Amino acid sequence: MPKKRKNRGRKKGDKGREPLVHCDNCGRVMPRSKAVRITVPYSPVPPDLARELEKQGVIISRYLVTKTYCINCAVFFGIIKVRAREERKKKIPLQQVV
Ligand SMILES: [Zn+2]
Repeated sequence: MPKKRKNRGRKKGDKGREPLVHCDNCGRVMPRSKAVRITVPYSPVPPDLARELEKQGVIISRYLVTKTYCINCAVFFGIIKVRAREERKKKIPLQQVV
């Protein structure tokens, strides 16, 4: 059978069943190995205001937020991209795709 992707769109390997997770944006249920997880720094203060406050010596804490997205939402947010037929067989870490 021809394969569209080398890993069949998942990171499962020859493991059996995997727990299901929900997309943080749309709520879609998918296996954990298919989900796209990304950790981004989050600050409750807007960036331009934060810059001015830091000039005055205020320490603003940043939090790391881990989000789980389905493939549709990850493409929509630009975390992963749609790739050409041969390109999609290559393995690329998430940070290089953005
Ligand atoms: Zn989603």
